[in-house]
Parts: sequence; structure tokens; C-alpha cells
Amino acid sequence: MSLFTITAEAEERFVFEKAEMGLPFRITLFADDEKSARSAADAAFERIAELNGVLSDYDSDSELSRLSRTSGQGKVVPVSTDLWRVLERSQVVAEKTDGAFDITVGPLVNLWRRARRNKAMPTADLLAQMRARVGFKNLRLDPKARTAELLVPEMRLDVGAIAKGYAVDEAIIVLRKHGITRALVGGSGDMAASDAPLYEPGWRIEVASLDVPDAPPPQIIFLANRGIATSGDVFQRVEIGGVRYSHIVDPHTGIGLTDHGLVTIIAPDCMTADSLATAVSVLGPERGLKLIEATPGAVAHLARKPGEKVEFAESKRWLEIPHLPRGDEIPRAQSRAIRPED
Ligand code: AMP
Ligand code: MG
Repeated sequence: MSLFTITAEAEERFVFEKAEMGLPFRITLFADDEKSARSAADAAFERIAELNGVLSDYDSDSELSRLSRTSGQGKVVPVSTDLWRVLERSQVVAEKTDGAFDITVGPLVNLWRRARRNKAMPTADLLAQMRARVGFKNLRLDPKARTAELLVPEMRLDVGAIAKGYAVDEAIIVLRKHGITRALVGGSGDMAASDAPLYEPGWRIEVASLDVPDAPPPQIIFLANRGIATSGDVFQRVEIGGVRYSHIVDPHTGIGLTDHGLVTIIAPDCMTADSLATAVSVLGPERGLKLIEATPGAVAHLARKPGEKVEFAESKRWLEIPHLPRGDEIPRAQSRAIRPED
């Protein structure tokens, strides 16, 4: 007679939530005990807070804000490693999208924030004034010296379309350093996953649908060792004269997007997914999907309602991501690829 021993799984699932960067962040992880789970999560949240101090455009003391204040003065400014990584990647995405993605868009974003508060369209004069301050070619980076120069006065950098992706990627790295290999870190629409929970193909993620009555049910996908990001105007928008303007601005026109859509990108890391989700929102399905097909490891799902009908588009490899068949009843979703109202 042989004796078999069955080892029970020692790992437990823990969930931690904390507001960082003005948004709710959630860390779900597997660890041997609460103490190690908590100290790893604390360190990950600390890293996100540190990045907020570098990248926030709300905090006038952040490194990003201080850099913005040097614009138009002929100042060449050395930047930290974190800021460098975000600036450098942003410029790559800007080049690839002919400026559809542009972190110098800050003056226009602020204009639309004000429009949202006042529920009034910006005047043509103001729009022209702000557009003159925007343009990624006015942000000059020197890779050797790791310096940045803002060439035009009154520029304002806004990394809101990429910083959360970078922050959740960095949180995953911190968790790994603490021995946590199965984790999901999410900051509203942006999530990064390391290894899957045991016996699962990945972390269950609900890919949000459009908030229209005829939209199909959300899809459930499984994410492991990748990032996912959702961009769109479902929650952040302003309605003026019956038209809805998104918080995402087309830098070429200066106008908030109006084609009511939701773009979900999965990529090898969340900084890539985050920046591409915003870029594809601006580019639209045709040019957007071309960009995704040309990006290694990236897939996209788009839902739009430009007129009466909801339209969908997917990149070729979207269905290679493990997922439940569409229309399946939604079981317990561990996280939602949607963003709360700001
Ligand atoms: P996301 O939710 O990742 O799509 O990022 C949206 C945020 O990115 C906005 O709230 C703005 O702060 C900023 N943003 C808006 N339009 C653009 C754009 N065309 N390129 C880069 N960032 C943008
Ligand atoms: Mg983004």
C-alpha cells in the first residue's frame, strides 16, 4: 500500500485598496500569510505614491510640474529616471501616431476641464491660444544627457494617459521583489498582472461595454503577465449643446473627442497598453488597429457609437487572449476595466 500526501495550497488571496494619484488603486495578491502580503502591498503603494510625486500634473510641486514651468526659457533640465522613462516612451508613441498621442496636450486638457465645469464651449480665441502651446515637437529630449527642454512658453505636460500604466507596472515589480509572483494591480482603467492565480488561465477581468442600452454584455478575459488599459468617454465627458466631448483631446484640432467610444488594449506591459488605449481613441478604428497590429504583443478591442449603431472592431489576435465566450453569464469578476467618475 502506498501513502499519498496531498499538500494543501498554503497561499491565500489578499486584497488591498488605497487612493493614490487621486484614484482608487487595488492590489490583489497571493501570499503565504497576511504579514508578508501587507508589507509587500505597502511597499507597492509607496512606490505608486512616489511616482505621483514625480508625474502628477495636479501637484504643482511634482517634478513634471516643475519641468513645465521652465517652458520657453531656454532651460535644459536634467530629469529623474522615472520621468525620463515616461517622457521617452511618450515621445515614441507621439512620433508613431503623428501626434495623436501628445503629452504636451496639457493646455487643451485644462481648457476642456474648464468647459466641463462651466458647461460652455471654449471660445475660438482661447482654443487658438492653447493650441499654440501644444505640440510634441516642442518637447526636446536628449537621451545621452537625459535632459528635457520645453521650447515654447506656457507649455504644460500632462502624462495622464500613460503614468498610471507605468505606476501599476512598477508596483508589480516591487511585489516581485517582495517574493509575490501572483498579483493584479489596478488603478481604475489600467491594470497590470503577474502570474495567474493557481489553476486559472489568468486573472478574470471584465472588459467594460459601452453605457448604451443596446450594448452587448461585457467580455470576461483572463490576464497574466500583461497589462490592460481602457480609454474612453464613458465616465469622463462634458455635454454641451447636445454633443458629448471626451476628456481625451485630439491635439490636431484641440477638440475633445465626440465619437463616444471605448478602447481596450492588452499589451506586454501596462505603460504600453495605457498609452496605446489613448492613442487609438484619438486615431479611430482604422488607423488605430493598424498601429496595434504593428506593435509586438498588443491586441485591441474597440466599441464605438458614432451615430445610431454600436460598432465593434478587434485586432486580429484579440481572441488569442483567453476569454469566456461572449454572452456567457458574468460570474464573479475580480476587477473591472472601467474608470470611476473623476
Ligand atoms: P486615458 O484615460 O489613459 O485615456 O488618459 C486620458 C488623459 O490623458 C486625459 O485626462 C488627459 O489628461 C490626457 N490626454 C488627453 N488627450 C490626450 C492626447 N491626445 N494624448 C495624450 N494625452 C492626452
Ligand atoms: Mg491611456
